[in-house]
Parts: sequence; C-alpha cells; structure tokens
Amino acid sequence: MRILTALIFSAIWLFMPACKQSTADVKSSGGIQIPAPDSVDHHSYAKPDEARVDHLQLDLRVDFKEEILEGVASYTIVHNNAREIIFDTKDLTIIEVRIGQEGEPHSFKMGSADDLMGQSLTIPLKPETDIVTIHYKTQPTSEALQWLSPEQSRQKTPFLYTQSQAMLARTWLPCQDSPGIRFTYDARVRVPEGLMAVMSAANPTMVSNTGDYFFTMEQPIPAYLMAMAVGNLEYRPYGRMAGIYAQPDVLLSAAWEFEDTEKMIEVASALFGPYRWERFDILVLPPSFPYGGMENPRLTFVTPTVIAGDRSLTALIAHELAHSWSGNLVTNATWNDFWLNEGFTVYLERRIMEMVYSSAWSRMEEELGYQDLLKTLKEKGQDHSDTRLKGNLDNRNPDEGISSIAYEKGYLFLRTMEEMYGRNAVDNILNAWFRKKAFESATTEEFVTFLKGILMDGGSGIGVDEWVYGTGLPSNAFKSRSEQFAQLDEVLKKLESDKNVAGIDTTGWSALEWMYFLRQLPENADLAALEQRFNLSASGNAEYKAIWFEQCLQKGFIQPIQKPLTEFLTQVGRRKFLTPLYKGMIQAKQLDTAWDIYAKARPGYHSISRKAIDEIFADNGKKIS
Ligand SMILES: [Zn+2]
Repeated sequence: MRILTALIFSAIWLFMPACKQSTADVKSSGGIQIPAPDSVDHHSYAKPDEARVDHLQLDLRVDFKEEILEGVASYTIVHNNAREIIFDTKDLTIIEVRIGQEGEPHSFKMGSADDLMGQSLTIPLKPETDIVTIHYKTQPTSEALQWLSPEQSRQKTPFLYTQSQAMLARTWLPCQDSPGIRFTYDARVRVPEGLMAVMSAANPTMVSNTGDYFFTMEQPIPAYLMAMAVGNLEYRPYGRMAGIYAQPDVLLSAAWEFEDTEKMIEVASALFGPYRWERFDILVLPPSFPYGGMENPRLTFVTPTVIAGDRSLTALIAHELAHSWSGNLVTNATWNDFWLNEGFTVYLERRIMEMVYSSAWSRMEEELGYQDLLKTLKEKGQDHSDTRLKGNLDNRNPDEGISSIAYEKGYLFLRTMEEMYGRNAVDNILNAWFRKKAFESATTEEFVTFLKGILMDGGSGIGVDEWVYGTGLPSNAFKSRSEQFAQLDEVLKKLESDKNVAGIDTTGWSALEWMYFLRQLPENADLAALEQRFNLSASGNAEYKAIWFEQCLQKGFIQPIQKPLTEFLTQVGRRKFLTPLYKGMIQAKQLDTAWDIYAKARPGYHSISRKAIDEIFADNGKKIS
C-alpha cells in the first residue's frame, strides 16, 4: 500500500509546477502529513530558471581601518533571452553595474530591504548579455564578516573571517545566495602587507610580499560555501592532501591535534567514493568563531576549542571532511532539506571515526548524540512540526533549523536503515547517491524517490515517509548502548548513594566518558569535592568544561566557578557553548552578572552568536541599545 502511494505521489510531483506560494499539506495513506514538493528556495530572490550565474571573477580590497571590503564581482551568466537577472544583497552599497565584455555602464534596481532576506539587485539584460559586473562595498556591520582587532586576535595584527552559511554570503558579496545555484570562481584579494589571505579555493602557503593574492576554485559551489580569512597565518602541510593554517601561537598544537586528517581522507574515500576537491586543508580560527566548524571546500574552518591536547574532539574534523560528500558534493536544494546535508554527514562522520579509532568510540558519540536528540524532542514536544526531518523554514531564519533533529534524527534514520537492511546496502545507497548527484543539489523528495526505488521493499519496512515527514521519533528507531557508558552508570549509581568523590576511579577515561559522566551527575553530587579533586573549571577540554559549568549553574554551585566561567565566556565565541551558559546564569538568578559579562564579551563575538544571545537577554528585559 505504501509503495503504491509513493508511486502515485512521485508521478504527481513530476507534473507539479514549482511555485512561490506556500504549500498545502497532502495526507498520505499512513496518516503522515506529506507536504507538496517545492524545490523553490524561499530564502533567495534569485530566479535561476530564468537567469543564473555560472562563474565569478572577484577582485576585492580588504580595508581593516574602515572594516569594509570593496571590489568588483564580475559574473559570467547563463540565460535564454531573460529580461533580467536577480541577485541577493544585504547591507551592500552598489556603486555601479556594467554589462558585457566591454563593460558598458548599465542600470540596476534595488528592491526594498527586508530584515531576513536583504535586498534584491535586479539587472536588466539584453539577449546577448553574458557578463554582468557589479562594483560594490560592504558596511562595517556586514553580518558574515568578523573583524578582530589585534587585541581580539591575540596577535599584533588584526584578523578577518567570513561565515556565509546559511544566508550571509549576500552580506559580503552580491550573489545568487541559494544552495541550489553553483558557480566556479577566480579571485584576487589585496590585503595589508605581512598578512595572508585564504579562501575556499586553491590557497597560497606563504605570505605574499605585496599583499596581493590570487585564488581559483574550479569545482562549482553554492554561495554559502564562499569563504575568506585574512590574518597572521602560517601553513604546515601533513602530506599530499592536507595541512593546517593557523596563527603562529596555535599552529604546532593544532598540527599535532589533527594529525589523523590524511588517514580520515583515505578512509572516507574508500567508504564513500573519491574525494573530489583535491585538497582538504584546515584553518584554525580565533576563539570567536561561532560554530565548531564550517565545511568550506578545500579549506575547512574550525574553532580552536577542539584543540584539547589529546585528540579527543577530532570527530569535528571527520564531520567537516564528511561534508565533502554530503553537503558540498551533493547539496541540500533549499534549507528545508538541511537534514540531507547534516544527517548524512553525522552518519559518515561516525563511520570515519569507527575506522580511524574504534567502534567503541563511535558508539559513545552515537549515544551522546542520542541524548541530544531526546533533549530536543522533550523541549519541542514530540508532535512539534519542527521535529520533522523535512523542514519548513520559509519566512524564518534557516539558522533555526540547526538543531539535533537535522543532525541526530537524520543520523538515526540512516543508522536504523543499516540495522534493517545491512551496512552494505546503506553503503551502496550512499555511493550511488553521491555518484548520481555529484556537484548538484537535491530535494528531500528526490532522495525519498531514489531511496524507495533502490530498497528491495520500496522502503515500506523502515517506513521512509514516517521517518522523513513524521514528527517525533519512529518506534523502530535504533537505540544504541555503549558498554563504556553502561559501566559509568554503575559509577554514577554508587556516587548517588555514597557521595564519595574520592572513591571514583577515572583511570583511562576519555573526554567522551567525562562528558557522559558530567551530564548524568546525580542531583546530590558534591560539586565542591568534584572541583577540588578534578579541577574541572581549569580543564583544557572545552566540551566537558562547558557541561561542568552548566551543571554548576543548575545546582547552585556558582561562586567558586565565577572567575573561570567569566573567562570562558569572554574568550570563547562558540554559540553552542554560549547560549546554554547565559541561559543557565539567568535561570540561576545571575542576570545582572551575565549582562555585565556579555557587555564586555559581545564585541568579540560573531554576529551569529550575538544574535542568539541578544534574544536571550531581550526575553529577560535586557535590550542592546
Ligand atoms: Zn555539519
């Protein structure tokens, strides 16, 4: 019955015209609400069916004094007698537009400004127009760009980096800012002498004497993977495929931490098909970077908070590497299909970690991820529409889709498939999918159709529709149990009954075991004794240090951790750590203290983190003036 329904729906989809209106729900026979397919990206003004970009020639000057970029974006475009081409911009000043090889001055029109979408830039076309050239500059408030003073970069030199995902590329480059539109690029970037510029492209390995840098990106990418950083950078290669860019003070420790990178590339290529991006270099950013990592092709950006000194947080590297297949090679067509990027990537990440480290390690990561998922489901409610894999983020900021639903429920879907159909079947599906859709974008519906076509039972065994379109967690979801964590449960049980911190044997505990242990601490745990024995507030591992601080705030052990917590919040800009800690402080009736810390720390955070934390304080009556 399900198979037949699926076939009928696929047939209907083929003939459904894409439309910009909101889509009505259609009910499937299983009672699951399946939205009508919609491959149009509602987060971009571009109309790629009429006119789209193909190649970008970018020429930028980086002005640290004014905190602006100024330059020229010259696009080769593809169209069939279209009347106009539309770009996305936000807070950009468009100085001039020219068209054609000769570059004759040309008219353009700016749409009205929208807080989320920015402004459309419409350029009328002639039938023969094949190049449009836009002279523009950014503003110091550009949301993608973070300008760090020498003091903030902890160097004698300033630092600049971009974060374009989800829809911030348009704040530093007029572009068709939709994940479904790909282009290649060349760039020239001029920076102050002595600094190095790097991009998501073929990169220099030495500082240029003139401050003039040239880049080529031969593989087509969507705008959200456009990336650039400028600073006092040095490079250290591992071998043929990979290397590390970092500021000199962290270069050696980063290079040691991520030494398994080439092994990861080897393993991932063996599992999921050839690595298509030639190089996989890593750029370690200053601590203000708002995310753990960003999979900018050829040059992954990572937070320094994963340099723990024991290689315990390198799953992040496996994760960003995995995006070289799921995300960068096959890209979610719209942000509603975000789980195709992230759920797949978490699955690939854990397979890589299993091969490079051990299956016990992957099981622990799987269980921590499962805990995150259960927490999200509890917070949102099992019936909440945001617990569906297929998202509905129209008219909302796609950042709202960054939750463990896309990551961990997406992961569990593939993991459950592995249990049900076997690992070989899943590997075959993934390999065939990456081959079929290489350098293209994909909607959820395309994947669902592909999957039902390839599974022997048409997907009825696992219940594909329920997994993809249903809320909550399907009852057949795989549930993992790590042996290491089962042993920790005994330790925790004993701690709860005897409160004897001195009796805990932590010999051989990995960072993951510490994370599990700290997350599960019993209500009556003696936090002072734990702090005294293990000095957790001074830990070099940011992941479990953050959990420890959260626990202390929840359980009222505040004064003794005040100083290290303040330091942590002032130094680190990673949103995942900041939001629970500020929330925790507010819940612990520390609103004024939290507000004071935030006032000092805020200029050093990226706009993505600032936005999230501004909202937390606004909900508590504190507004940024
Ligand atoms: Zn990711």
